[in-house]
Amino acid sequence: MLDDLPNTLQSIHDRERVRSDGQVATYIPELAKADPDTFCIAVTFVDGTSHVVGDEHAAFTLQSTAKPLVFGQALQIVGRKLTVSLTGVEPTGSSFSSMVGLDEIGRPLNPMVNAGAIVTASLMPGSTPEDRFEHVRAAVATYTNQDTTIDEAVYRSEKRTGDRNRALGYLLKDKGTIEGDVEETLDLYFRSCALRATTQGLANAAATLANYGLNPHTNERVVDETYIKDILVVMLMNGMYNYAGRWAYEVGLPAKSGVSGAIMAVVPGIMGIAVYSPKLDTYGNSTRGLAVCRDLVQRYDLHMFGSTMHPRNP
Ligand code: GLN
Repeated sequence: MLDDLPNTLQSIHDRERVRSDGQVATYIPELAKADPDTFCIAVTFVDGTSHVVGDEHAAFTLQSTAKPLVFGQALQIVGRKLTVSLTGVEPTGSSFSSMVGLDEIGRPLNPMVNAGAIVTASLMPGSTPEDRFEHVRAAVATYTNQDTTIDEAVYRSEKRTGDRNRALGYLLKDKGTIEGDVEETLDLYFRSCALRATTQGLANAAATLANYGLNPHTNERVVDETYIKDILVVMLMNGMYNYAGRWAYEVGLPAKSGVSGAIMAVVPGIMGIAVYSPKLDTYGNSTRGLAVCRDLVQRYDLHMFGSTMHPRNP
């Protein structure tokens, strides 16, 4: 059914390349320097086969696409009960940096908004900040199948200007949702967001989730299969922020976007899809990324409630 995928990716890329709507993120000043025309689409199947079209060498910072991966590590390290009691699984219906993302007892509504991701960062293991960062970096490297490093300029730019995240961090500490040094936790959060990947790397990460936690290239396990549903559910409900309802309706796949212009989407048991193009809509989702995902889902009937996913005669 997906035999013609390489040609399809090329024709979608040719068509969407001329799309000009959206704005590159500027609230992290360094991100404003991104070339708005950069555009890449990649797909990795659970057998490790990959297809990529466009600017395949362009590397970008993961930003919020790191959130489901760090959430997975929190589940893995402290278990489901504690992680979910500290980060919640309710949709926020508001933007990624919203203060509304906290419930009445000071708990984030979910780990896909910044408040929740600051909590999952606080749960990373290690006796020093470097150890904790290395834990995240190594997990991301296993997901992406790339030896990832941080983009120092983006990291410093966000650290310098990230006062809203700083406010969220201190609020979480005040409520007792996070413990320890707030600046250290925020530093780990900023560094996780500044980890780099190519579109192919992000598709590999999505394919690792589609492959129930096993990297399809190396067969290395990065998260236990039992936690995949936890990750995919919060991605489906919250991965696209206040666009999540429309996304579930139109695309119907667990996904995560980041303000660098990255989107990853997971077709469980089949493949991971990633798109990178820095122009964003008002929700902070890549405009070309949304268009590509909508098109692929319609063309191949990949919506999670579509008939391809649920054949009537199994
Ligand atoms: N680092 C970004 C922030 O905290 C991540 C947000 C995003 O990608 N949506 O604002």
